[in-house]
Amino acid sequence: MTHTIGRFAPSPTGPLHAGSLVAALASWLDARAHGGQWLIRIEDVDTPRCVAGMDQLILQQLSVCGLQPDAPVVWQSQRTALYQEALDALIDSSQAYACACSRKDIEAAQAQERPRHTELIYPGTCRAGLHGKAGRAWRLRTDKFITNSPLRPNDIARAASFSIADDSVHWVDRRLGPQQQNVAQEVGDFVLKRADGFFAYQLAVVVDDAAQGVTDVVRGEDLADNTARQIWLQQCLGLPSPRTLHTPLVLGANGEKLSKQNGAAPLDSQNPFGALNQAAAVLGLLPQTASVPEALQAWTLQWRALMS
Ligand SMILES: [Zn+2]
Repeated sequence: MTHTIGRFAPSPTGPLHAGSLVAALASWLDARAHGGQWLIRIEDVDTPRCVAGMDQLILQQLSVCGLQPDAPVVWQSQRTALYQEALDALIDSSQAYACACSRKDIEAAQAQERPRHTELIYPGTCRAGLHGKAGRAWRLRTDKFITNSPLRPNDIARAASFSIADDSVHWVDRRLGPQQQNVAQEVGDFVLKRADGFFAYQLAVVVDDAAQGVTDVVRGEDLADNTARQIWLQQCLGLPSPRTLHTPLVLGANGEKLSKQNGAAPLDSQNPFGALNQAAAVLGLLPQTASVPEALQAWTLQWRALMS
């Protein structure tokens, strides 16, 4: 059996709330239940959206809840050299290309066929070159699958069960079951480095999960939609794909997902036990009445029985 490495990767755009604690607790329990390691990575690669001091507040909130990382915390903003290296490799192998399109250009190119209220799908305009225009962003080709870097035997052993067939990525989520997405049709060639010079979330996550040896990604269901793009990118870079488990979302009184954007209340640091019990209930674990450490231990055993 391979050694489990899990991680919690918050964006420092606001404090931890009831929804993000569910993902933090689940990833911690999963690593503990498998006798593995749990890491914290601060996803501050989208620097303009980050709020100063939030990283420290989140670390404090986790610590009050008894969730301590097993290795030093890493910050994505300090790792851009690694992301550039990965992008350069993709450019060298013609899997990434420069794109000169603005959002308006992309909208205009698909004004006819796009149903209302759907995501913009990049039509591949710049695949064949920039035709004298200035490159703004870098995109990954999704029209044909190329891998120049076959997986090493060690990586195959710990890779998730997935395949790329019929132009779609197929994988099995540990909670959601069999999933599939046609990346070319449903997303299009996606951005790796943005026009404002910041690296895209997808590239940073894939590079970091591989660099940190993450075997199991446990995160909120709102992020499940990124999985196919990340598997595609991992394959292009010859990196292993971790297994995934997407946790249930916590809904607010209005029936919408709790999020920093819709003003979810920060976790009450005075009552971490209450917050942990709420998060555990969302995960289908039994309420605990003793102390935080004893509760965490009881839930680890329950998780092992439920999710092994
Ligand atoms: Zn373009």
